[in-house]
Amino acid sequence: DVRNAVYPGSFDPFTNGHLDIVERALKIADSLHIAVLKNTSKKALFTPDERVEIIREVLHKYPQVKVETFEGLLVDFCRTRQIRIVIRGLRAVSDFDYEHAIFLMNRKLLPDLETMFLMAASDNSFISSTIVKEVAHFGGNIADQVPAIVLDRMQKKRAHINAE
Ligand code: ADP
Repeated sequence: DVRNAVYPGSFDPFTNGHLDIVERALKIADSLHIAVLKNTSKKALFTPDERVEIIREVLHKYPQVKVETFEGLLVDFCRTRQIRIVIRGLRAVSDFDYEHAIFLMNRKLLPDLETMFLMAASDNSFISSTIVKEVAHFGGNIADQVPAIVLDRMQKKRAHINAE
């Protein structure tokens, strides 16, 4: 039996915290779909298609990883792809309530789907996409928080914005 898992999120941008969760999830799953949420209310830095492109580049050495955008219900994404495992990362207690609510709802919608929570490594437990965006916006150094490819794309985006 093949274990297909999905790691859903906004990934705006993809951080070292996300990368760690992906690499650890690959020890559990045979294939991992990274589902980039299209309908997010957070102020976006990259478009969903740009995020897919960036994540593919970061994870190109893992042929068992598939990166796609998705909108609508995660359970429908999972049904059509025979996915029974959802991977989510937990940083601190502050993540718990939100993750718990989503878990309960997904379980109600599709009881066969199991959610697995991986705890953030200590070095990554303070990394969040929102903070990375904020710091980068004001010119702070985020080189320790995101993969080099992401840093490069963020710098290009900034230059592009400044040039307008
Ligand atoms: P969402 O908007 O769905 O929360 P994110 O891109 O912020 O999307 O996060 C996707 C998943 O990755 C979530 O489960 C989140 O808790 C987890 N995550 C985010 N940052 C980290 C980190 N630094 N370490 C471990 N897990 C993380």
